[in-house]
Amino acid sequence: MLVKDAVGRVLGTALYSSSSQIAIRLLTRESLDGFDAVLALIKRRMEEAIAYRKRVVRDSDAYRLIFSEGDFLPGLIVDRYNDILSFQVLTQAMDAEAIRQLAVTTLRKHVQAEAVVERVESHIRELEQLPARETGLIEGNKTATIVTMNGVRFHYEAKEGQKTGAFLDQRENYAAAAQYAHGEALDIFCYQGGFALHMTPRCSKVTGVDSSRPALEMAERNAALNAESLGGREIEWIEANAFDLLKDYAGAGRQYDTIILDPPAFAKSRKTLETALRGYKELNLRALKMLRPGGVLVTCSCSYHVGETDFLEVIGAAAVDARRSVRILEKRGQAKDHPVVLNVPETSYLKCVICAVSS
Ligand code: SAH
Repeated sequence: MLVKDAVGRVLGTALYSSSSQIAIRLLTRESLDGFDAVLALIKRRMEEAIAYRKRVVRDSDAYRLIFSEGDFLPGLIVDRYNDILSFQVLTQAMDAEAIRQLAVTTLRKHVQAEAVVERVESHIRELEQLPARETGLIEGNKTATIVTMNGVRFHYEAKEGQKTGAFLDQRENYAAAAQYAHGEALDIFCYQGGFALHMTPRCSKVTGVDSSRPALEMAERNAALNAESLGGREIEWIEANAFDLLKDYAGAGRQYDTIILDPPAFAKSRKTLETALRGYKELNLRALKMLRPGGVLVTCSCSYHVGETDFLEVIGAAAVDARRSVRILEKRGQAKDHPVVLNVPETSYLKCVICAVSS
């Protein structure tokens, strides 16, 4: 639809939703003439998104091909996991049959893949008042494969797991964290072992902690898949609530050289910001207390509502309470296949701060 200002000047062409709080999502500042022109623009944007990945993705056959607003395609997410494409539609407009078909045809034309799987976020379909659908194959019949990022291999099951199956946005941070990791390491909120598996070759002992048993079972299978490069080192996987475990371990005086904190988004909306900040502070405080001098803390937040400044303040406050000095080795964000658009702040959500901790 065309968007006009109060005096009738055209501001651009947008996608419309009759039910979302975000009624219109701007597609272009041009006025497009009819639906065919919209389809042509979407096709061109998809091709540009695919070409962009060729420029920015290194050492991985798993990455985000299309990142919604980040690729000027609001409501469309496509991830490539080696030979399986995972497709997700988040808005009424992108769910239109003509757009779905165009998306799948364009992907098939430019990306080699055995199968396309649709991942359905039921609550988002409800919010958008779209008919229910089930996660499942759209094309082909392969639903499991193996992907390789930074030389580390992972099982991928297209219909299982959180997000579209993996946390691809952390891919570059895995490699960065592994550079500093040493000694005894703890990967808290480890999911399927992304950080843990990357760090293991550099550490004497690695423990991964998560509350999800299926995630840990996959982590274990991933460790077996990389057995050779892990050089016989075993990773211990613990199913636990991270807050309770950190409290127990800190109470018992356990010490580590490297700790990763990658919790789920605590602030899902601005209303929960204060509680979220308290959660981040508690986690970081406990981790800082357990680090030996010379230790490394890799601390992440994927809450968009917690900005980088807020997050650094929380880490700073935790350092004061823990009586530790913290130097920042790296301030990082999401991998480059999750592009940040300067004037769309919501496209920037992941913070990953790597710190050197001294007593
Ligand atoms: N570091 C992971 C991604 C972590 S996502 C990676 O790079 O792949 C957040 C994880 O926290 C999820 O795996 C979820 O199962 C786990 N989780 C959520 N709440 C938890 C809690 N209270 N204690 C432990 N794990 C929790």
